[in-house]
Amino acid sequence: MIFMNELPTTKRKIKTIHNAITDFHASTYADIQYSPPQEIQEIQTQLLLNHIEYAATHSPFYKILFRDHAIDYRDIKTMADLSSVPFTRKSDMTDKSNDFLAVSEKDIVDVCLTSATTGSDPTIISQTQSDLARLAYNEEVAFAMAGITDDDTLLVCAALDRCFMAGLAYFLGGVRLNARVLRGGAGSAAQHWHLMKTVNTTAIVGVPSLMAKIARYAMENGDDPSEMGVKKLVAIGEPVRDEQLNLIPAAQTLEKQWNAKIFSTYASSELATTFCECQERRGGHLRPELIVLEIVDDDGRPVPTGKTGEVVVTPLGITGMPLIRFKTGDISYIIETPCACGRKTSRLAPILGRKNQMLKYKGTTIFPNAIIAALEGNSKFYGGYVEAKKNDDGTDRIILHAAMNTSDATMEWLQNELRAKIRVVPEIILAGKKAVDKKVYRFEKKRKRITFFDLR
Ligand SMILES: [Zn+2]
Repeated sequence: MIFMNELPTTKRKIKTIHNAITDFHASTYADIQYSPPQEIQEIQTQLLLNHIEYAATHSPFYKILFRDHAIDYRDIKTMADLSSVPFTRKSDMTDKSNDFLAVSEKDIVDVCLTSATTGSDPTIISQTQSDLARLAYNEEVAFAMAGITDDDTLLVCAALDRCFMAGLAYFLGGVRLNARVLRGGAGSAAQHWHLMKTVNTTAIVGVPSLMAKIARYAMENGDDPSEMGVKKLVAIGEPVRDEQLNLIPAAQTLEKQWNAKIFSTYASSELATTFCECQERRGGHLRPELIVLEIVDDDGRPVPTGKTGEVVVTPLGITGMPLIRFKTGDISYIIETPCACGRKTSRLAPILGRKNQMLKYKGTTIFPNAIIAALEGNSKFYGGYVEAKKNDDGTDRIILHAAMNTSDATMEWLQNELRAKIRVVPEIILAGKKAVDKKVYRFEKKRKRITFFDLR
């Protein structure tokens, strides 16, 4: 009976949340993050059931999937029932892009392209008006989580054109937050720095390696980025913390260079949702009104809380191309311990690496980016890349090619550094700076840096 009494309240709350999300001009939003966990779960479950009903009745892909697996969406009544729906893979979206469209083409107002896994055709993600409003809401609340307010001038260092979703999301979110937004876009370090000097900037959203380049450019030109007045760095695309949530050396350097706090985020075009760190910076908070998160093992079974596995997401409320149980290929874990900020939502730990890049080495698993991240930011280390090969016995062979800045940075120094930071010492080959640059930046004129070559 208590449940019956509470139902109208939940429904009312969901309606308020829905209105706040889909009304681009909403000035306030229903904040359920501080509600008791049971209430959060109730609301999230109802939103999930709405989402599943919508996908099962509007998306050709899910209509077929549910029919082929003899699933009646009305039988899904709890969060646990979600596991009866098969996973959706990136390859499904590449192969059957049109089947995911749950509205008529007339309702599409924006088309995003994301890179395909195999490097062939990109995946198309079509968005409706309501999806764009949702995207803006998502980024508004993510920025707010990082402490960005309408007093901030926010530099967006991500492409806003060429059908990228990220830059668009940051722009819309910043606007909705009523911050002053600078569309730096995919400019060079020099362009960004000059823009910042023209319009005093207090926050930056971008890839950490680009923030480092901007700082380096400033210093090389006699300026001091720490005096710019930037207080928040919202890091996208690359993790800035290790498995224990400690800042990696490169991120520590960034904080010093800018005299600012760095906030890690996790998002992708398929997620259309951001996990952003709060002021406590102990993992990215989940927004229960926007996404359902699962972590699964190699067999697709849920892992216990705190154990690492593949990130699987169901972004809620998307109307153009709804997804259910999308396998991201990213590896992380969930943090359920209470956060000192008072939010009652779970958090996503840093992304440790891509599932297909996981290396098995001397009885442990390691990701190539962890090897590079352990060294980057150290002035003795110039740069490097990791190669993986297969041994005859099926185990992985890991070779680090490293170029050093100083002569005292010997092979032994590298081995000690890696042993201390990641407890694993791969084979090491000392290389010249030019050779490393040639390999790492061989695509797209230094824009894209590749530090892992899988030869297995
Ligand atoms: Zn928190």
